[in-house]
Formats: sequence, structure tokens, C-alpha cells
Amino acid sequence: MSGPPRHCDIAVIGAGPAGSSAAALLARDGFDVVVLERARHPRPMVGESLIPHFWKYTDLTGATPAIEAEGFVAKAGGITVWEGEIHRIRFADFGFERPALHVERDVFDHLLLRHAERCGARVFEQVTVTDVAPGEEIRLRWADRRANPPAQGFLRCRYLVDASGASSLVARRLGRRHLARSPHQFLSFWGYFENSRFIDGEGRARDFEELKAVRPVTFVCAYEDGWIWHIPLRRSTSVGLVIYRDRVRGLEGAARQRYFLETCARAPYLRELLAPARFVEGSLSGRPDFSYHVAQVAEDNLYCIGDAGGFVDPIFSHGVLNAFYGALLAALAIRESLRDPARRQRHAQLCAHRLHQFYSFSRALALGDVGGNGVDFELVKRFMRSVPQRELELMLAVSHITHRTRHFRRLIEASGLTALGGRLEDKARLLPRLWI
Ligand SMILES: Cc1cc2nc3c(=O)[nH]c(=O)nc-3n(C[C@H](O)[C@H](O)[C@H](O)COP(=O)(O)OP(=O)(O)OC[C@H]3O[C@@H](n4cnc5c(N)ncnc54)[C@H](O)[C@@H]3O)c2cc1C
Repeated sequence: MSGPPRHCDIAVIGAGPAGSSAAALLARDGFDVVVLERARHPRPMVGESLIPHFWKYTDLTGATPAIEAEGFVAKAGGITVWEGEIHRIRFADFGFERPALHVERDVFDHLLLRHAERCGARVFEQVTVTDVAPGEEIRLRWADRRANPPAQGFLRCRYLVDASGASSLVARRLGRRHLARSPHQFLSFWGYFENSRFIDGEGRARDFEELKAVRPVTFVCAYEDGWIWHIPLRRSTSVGLVIYRDRVRGLEGAARQRYFLETCARAPYLRELLAPARFVEGSLSGRPDFSYHVAQVAEDNLYCIGDAGGFVDPIFSHGVLNAFYGALLAALAIRESLRDPARRQRHAQLCAHRLHQFYSFSRALALGDVGGNGVDFELVKRFMRSVPQRELELMLAVSHITHRTRHFRRLIEASGLTALGGRLEDKARLLPRLWI
């Protein structure tokens, strides 16, 4: 059982989609990459819905064949029930050739990590980074939990990618992580059901066994304390609540599970989908205090990507996409900096700028939150001009399916994209009812 080395070119903290993808890209370029991951994969993880343009990133890392071979559930689109209106989006209407997916994240993340290893990254699982000392040569302190008592040591690297997810190790250490202001503070509870029915792309309910032949949608409905997702996976269905934090303060243990199950049993449409289903005992998990941003995500030889660089309400499945995007940008910037160290600062600035654009766009889209909580109006506008047409169309259509995004639409108008927004109301189609 050998521990991490003493030196490397690039150290990556965390092996979620962000860390594994950055590691794969940099290792493919021939750099000496070390990944330190606290957990042992496959490890539990929430966040199962992926939008169709994620493939372009896995094409670049080379992970696509492994994902295709796994046979995850391909989904048709999304249906929302929000303030009495039912909207449907189908990805086929936007011309995406490749499917969006519902993935078991433990399996998905494991695939990405093994792919990074095949690309040449040296991976150490069950090794926690306990401290980071920035500098010309960055020093990480680690604890290897495979040994009893845990072995400890230091790793020195020229570049560091912090992909530690919600831990945001570097941002916390440097005092740069800011929780969003109220009313944009949320928490989440989620669990798994067996044998739930699901909704197809036409708005009809289907039995769980039909999942092998019929593509489901991600179903989302608003309720008095927040919103609920219903995501059919290969063996079970993920159901989760995203809740305004003030509404459920102090709800723990059995009370939390009672609140979760009662909410599911009350919500229109969801209760019918879950009528034949069994809750998987022990599957309830939660995440507190989400919605935060990081003031500085890249500088010199330090990069914070994925959730380590900010987190937005996951309603439009931007989390994994953000992780992939950040991995690509950081890998490009680090590669160019290693080749031409004199331009290191410039590469980091460009990367930080693009990451802030993406974050601002996601936040404006998901919450209609513009002008606060790390969102910069100009950055959102600039980002929208650089997004490929089909992806932008999908995002604009998505902004019509909840009542969160009035500000976002004003922003679209201010960007001169009104005509595009107008046409899109067809693609975010109003349904008279669901056939459940
Ligand atoms: C309730 C909820 C629902 C969501 N739904 C969706 C969805 O449907 N679609 C979507 O795209 N996104 C969704 N997301 C967001 C998505 O889960 C995240 O954005 C995504 O996992 C971020 O990837 P990452 O690689 O940055 O971090 P993570 O996937 O969190 O990976 C971070 C890794 O770092 C490791 N780590 C942490 N600290 C240390 C340390 N000190 N030392 C070593 N290793 C460490 C962790 O063990 C972990 O493996 C959701 C999030 C939540 C909370």
C-alpha cells in the first residue's frame, strides 16, 4: 500500500466529475498528475440528471465510450408543474442528436475516475487533504485513512486544482467562500423509491418496467416550501426536495424523514407516481447550506473548479456541466502556463473570467438572481453571446418553465435576444394536463 508521492506537476483534490476530468485532460497531455480523493469509489453522490450537451466534454476527455457502454437511462426531456402551469421540454425539438441521461452518480463518477487513471493520472483514494499552503510551490498536507492510525504526509506541486466539491477546501482556507444571501438559501433532502411509475415525453404515466423501452422525463414540481424532483434510474427512482432553509430549520432524524415522505405523498402527480412504490429505508440523505459563490476561482497556480468554485440551486442540472466546463478551462490554462510560465497570470485571469461567466449565467437562469450573490449582469450577457445556438435555445426555453426567471428574461431582452426568446415559447410547451 503505497502513499502519495512527494512531488508532482499538478495535484487534484477530489475525484468528482470536475477533478477526474481535469486529471484526465492533463494526464493525456503528458503531465505528472496526482489525484487525492477522500472517499473510496464508487461513493454515494446526488445529482443524477445530465443535460444533452455534456457529451462534448466527455468527448474531449475520452470518457465517452465508457459512459455509452454503461447503458444509463436516456431521457426525453423535462416536465414542470409550477404555480398551476404544466410545461414540457423535449430535447429532440432542439436537434440534439445525443441523449440526455439519468445516471447513478456513484457509477458515473467511478467510470470517470478509472478513465483518469487509464489516462495516466496517479489516483489515491481514501486520502484526505487536510491543509493547503499556497505559494510558488504549493504544499498539501494529507492523511491516508487506509492505515490505522492514518499515515500523514506532504505533497508539493507546481499547480493545484481544487475540485473538492462543497468542501471548497481552498476557498474556505482563504476566506473566499460566501454563502448566498436570503432568500436564496436552500437545503435539500432526497431518497430513493423502488417501483415508482414515471412520466414519458408526452406527459403520460408509465409503469417502472417500461423504462427499458420508453424514455422518461425529469419531472419537477413546485410546492409551498420549494420544489421536488423525480428522476427514474435503472433500479430505483431518485426523489428530492430543494427547500427554502428557513422553512425547515432544525428538522432532523425521524422528523426529517416524516416531512420528506409526507411532502411526497401530498404533491399532486408525484403522489400518483409513487402510489405503487416502496421507499428504500435508510436512503434519505441531506445537504445543508447550499448556494454559495467563491470570490476568486483562479490565480497564479491555484484553480477552484466545479462545486469547489460555487454552487447554484440544481434545478436545471447545471452542476455536472459546470464541473466539466471548469475542468476543461483549468486544464487548458494550466497546460499553457506550464508551457509558457511568463503568461501564467494571464491564463489564470482568463480562466477565472470564464468561470464567473458560467456561474453568473447558471445563477441568473436558475434563480433569476441578478446583481447580487456573485452574479454580474455584464458577464451573463457576454456568456450568452458565446454559447452555441442550440444550447442557448434550450436554456432560453428552460427559462419559461418556472416562475423564477423573470429577471433572466429581462436580461435576455437587454442582450438583444428577444426574438429568439419569443419563438422559444413553442418549445417550452404548455400542456393542458398530465395523463396519470
Ligand atoms: C440536492 C442536489 C441535487 C443535484 N442535482 C443535480 C442534477 O440533477 N444534475 C447536475 O448536473 N447536478 C446536480 N447537482 C450538482 C452536482 O451534484 C454537483 O454540481 C457535482 O457533483 C459537482 O461535481 P464536483 O466534481 O465539483 O464535486 P463532487 O462531485 O462533490 O466531488 C468532490 C469530491 O471531492 C472529494 N473531497 C472533498 N474534500 C476532500 C478533501 N479534503 N480531500 C480529498 N478529497 C476530498 C469528495 O469526496 C468528492 O468525491 C445536485 C446537487 C445537489 C446538492
